Amino acid sequence: MIELYKVTKQVASGSETLTILHELELQIPDGQFVSIVGPSGSGKSTLLGLIAGLDSPTSGKILIDGQSITAMNEDDLAELRGEKIGIVFQSFHLIPSITAFENILVPMEIAGIKDAHQRAETLLEDVGLTARAHHYPSQLSGGEQQRVAIARAFANNPSILLADEPTGNLDSKNGRHILELMIEINRKRKTTLVLITHDKELAAMTERHIALRDGRIVSDSASGLLHQERNSSADVEVVSVHEPLAVEDRL
Ligand code: ADP
Ligand code: MG
Repeated sequence: MIELYKVTKQVASGSETLTILHELELQIPDGQFVSIVGPSGSGKSTLLGLIAGLDSPTSGKILIDGQSITAMNEDDLAELRGEKIGIVFQSFHLIPSITAFENILVPMEIAGIKDAHQRAETLLEDVGLTARAHHYPSQLSGGEQQRVAIARAFANNPSILLADEPTGNLDSKNGRHILELMIEINRKRKTTLVLITHDKELAAMTERHIALRDGRIVSDSASGLLHQERNSSADVEVVSVHEPLAVEDRL
């Protein structure tokens, strides 16, 4: 479970303070597939970076599986990420000088994962790229490169996958393919997925939709409680925002 309580992010901008995220309340239960949409500059990547522990909030508290990451030092954060969190970016971030297979294998070897070789093979197979194992990133299409990046993000079998516009560099067909792969992973492994996307059609394929604007959550399809939450007295316990959802087959 991902929990954010009164999380804000401010940065200094010259002599002024710029508020990127206003007091934000968000809970994402295990196994949920959430999309976050919003215009450029609305704070989506900042929010994802905070959940990943790559950045720290100015105030407020973030818990991952009940553990506060807000007070953790870099080493503990790195350990938590290694254990629980996989991240996928828009620009793939593959190492160009090694093959698809090695891009998945090498981080596992560095992390000392047992049976790394075997696992890398399975992960490549999961994303349908066994035949491309020994190709270099430059020899793969954008969609294939992103599939390698997703396989790599799953090397540590994370319970949470964070994806920041993973389809942003892909055409709509390949974008949809990546989304279907993520849905499949979410079903098979019960991974919690947080997907930032510009693409409304792709966002519609997820079970919960959160919209950000100017650093605020302006809608949340799973809560419908946003206004009640705003108007309630300050020390009300966190409002449950996760009504059980009908997870229909949208594929
Ligand atoms: P999104 O991913 O929705 O496009 P971001 O989270 O990247 O938005 O950024 C939100 C806003 O915060 C933008 O206006 C951006 O310019 C600003 N911003 C992000 N990081 C910093 C930073 N380190 N310093 C100053 N401004 C920042
Ligand atoms: Mg962004």
